[in-house]
Amino acid sequence: MIVAIDGPAGAGKSTVARAVAAALGFTYLDTGAMYRCAALARLRDGGSDIETLEIELAETVTLNGEDVSEEIRSAAVTEMASEVAAEPKVRAAMARRQQTMLASGDWVAEGRDIGTVIAPLAELKIFLTADANERARRRAEQTGRALDEVLAEQQQRDRRDGERELSPLVVADDAIELDTTALSADEVIASIVDLAMQRSESHSR
Ligand code: C5P
Repeated sequence: MIVAIDGPAGAGKSTVARAVAAALGFTYLDTGAMYRCAALARLRDGGSDIETLEIELAETVTLNGEDVSEEIRSAAVTEMASEVAAEPKVRAAMARRQQTMLASGDWVAEGRDIGTVIAPLAELKIFLTADANERARRRAEQTGRALDEVLAEQQQRDRRDGERELSPLVVADDAIELDTTALSADEVIASIVDLAMQRSESHSR
């Protein structure tokens, strides 16, 4: 079974997806971390051949054997990730890897295009949103950075992710939209776990 969780930056996807996966006993796939690895490689050596990058996602994120879990969360990598994510070659390479992983087993996969492009047949699709100011407030709190700076960068990323030609951030027709602005992470996690259990029962009948 695949649970797809898409949505803009700061809507709480990572916290929620990780916890939902743990609660259901599914494997968690953070596709954003893959784009972040591609971005880090690009920042380091410019032209980097995306096809040959070895990316491993587990407790830590490794790029060609090196633990880059922290480095991929830097502001520079965050910025570059939404740029490389608009490149057809990068998207094709990442999509291929993601679809290979998702072909067997039970997954909670998080990203921007999981329900629309990567796993259009996912049994459950969630689109997580939150008010833009609230999303920036959460990110500023997490990172200790200035709110106005975070908000400005977030607007730019939202625009880039939403307007790109390839796999833009859009809500899948059959996705359930959850606005997390006024909800705690625990409330969001509980409702997605409930929905997943209902879907899994109705699919096994
Ligand atoms: O989710 P996260 O913020 O880690 O993603 C980093 C960037 O990777 C996003 O801003 C987005 O541009 C890109 N991304 C994407 N498709 C995905 C996941 C992430 O384009 N499935």
